[in-house]
Amino acid sequence: MASKDKIDVIFHAGVMTIGGTIVEVAYHDAHIFFDFGTEFRPELDLSDESLKTLLENRLIPELKDIYDFRFDYDYKGMERPDFQHTAVFLSHAHLDHTRMANYLDPSIPMYALEATAEVVPMLNQTGDFLIPQPFEADKSFTREIIAGAPYSKIQVGEIEVELAPVDHDAYGACCMIITVAGKKIAYTGDLRLHGYDPDDTVKFTELAKEADMLIMEGVSISFPERETGEVLAYPIHSEQDLINEFSRLQLENPERQITFNGYPANVKRFSQLIKSSPRIVVLTQNMALLLKKIFKQEVAYYVPVGAEPLVGLNSSLEISYSKLLTDNSEYLWQVESDFEALKKGSLYIHSDATPLGDFDPAYKVFLDLLEKNDIEFVRLACSGHAVPDDLKKIISLIEPKLLVPIHSFHPERLENPYGERILPKRGQIIEL
Ligand SMILES: [Zn+2]
Repeated sequence: MASKDKIDVIFHAGVMTIGGTIVEVAYHDAHIFFDFGTEFRPELDLSDESLKTLLENRLIPELKDIYDFRFDYDYKGMERPDFQHTAVFLSHAHLDHTRMANYLDPSIPMYALEATAEVVPMLNQTGDFLIPQPFEADKSFTREIIAGAPYSKIQVGEIEVELAPVDHDAYGACCMIITVAGKKIAYTGDLRLHGYDPDDTVKFTELAKEADMLIMEGVSISFPERETGEVLAYPIHSEQDLINEFSRLQLENPERQITFNGYPANVKRFSQLIKSSPRIVVLTQNMALLLKKIFKQEVAYYVPVGAEPLVGLNSSLEISYSKLLTDNSEYLWQVESDFEALKKGSLYIHSDATPLGDFDPAYKVFLDLLEKNDIEFVRLACSGHAVPDDLKKIISLIEPKLLVPIHSFHPERLENPYGERILPKRGQIIEL
């Protein structure tokens, strides 16, 4: 263990992989954790997602006195002291950063930026976003997430955490500036410079300037083959490019059914698409309610087959599902299921929706289904992660004394010309 006056930074999970980042910062009688998702390994095809199964498959780490005390769980990890103050922080609403939220003990506070605290329960309204809480009857239960305003500071013992908004493809994403014992630790969460809010990312680099430790994501350097844009139908460099491509496809196909799907946490993309599309955009009722609650934006919607109509939507904006199925020219509509019902020869736009890519076995199944039904598949994607040159730029703006790259299959590709670099192993403690 560290000597008494050192800060311990423990990389419990999410270091040589993408997803399931869990890092602990401990000092004296206080410790904090960020984030609280799981690693996404669909190829394991798990029979269940109990705590035991997730631990056995190393999708989550051994953590002492953190998981819900009602679980029958024996901690088997390294020796750890007892703490007086504990808190967990979420950087954003993507599953690999939040999915395990309901497994945190209810007595331990969980914090996020207010937009994330608002959006996570909404994304979980049908109970299939977070892992359900086994001790609650309601499948859509979401534990309490305490909302922090942008740039607010939360004190946990002697550890102070500032939540600073950052540009990412999840609404409400933040990075963290952690101040403890006169040291500054910056955690990027996931970030980029080519979305709707690049100024937020730049402001983060100012707050993180010359950090004693910069814990940084490196998703884009994991896949050199993706940098060429080969797998994309069109080269897309920004969220605005992507919206333009949506418009172009609509204008080029005036007499053709066009549908699409996206990732619900990317609320801003949906919002912009509605404003910019030549056609009327029609969303599923769940997504329409999300837009209404977050941006007060009223949008046409439909009730999918078999779903109960949601309360809170303006029924004059409802478009019947049967009308959408016969439409060729008026609507661009979101589709999440029942792809067999779409017209033969129609166009479907996959915009960072699930299944996300060929690392997920469900992706090929999905593509085969579309092909079998003669539906043209077009992928319009815009990464939520800084491109390699922007990762370098972010490091050059911060000039960290110590760089710790994580959240990447190739963290060694991130270099630090301004100081040291450590490539931690899973479970490693770095003393500061
Ligand atoms: Zn993310």
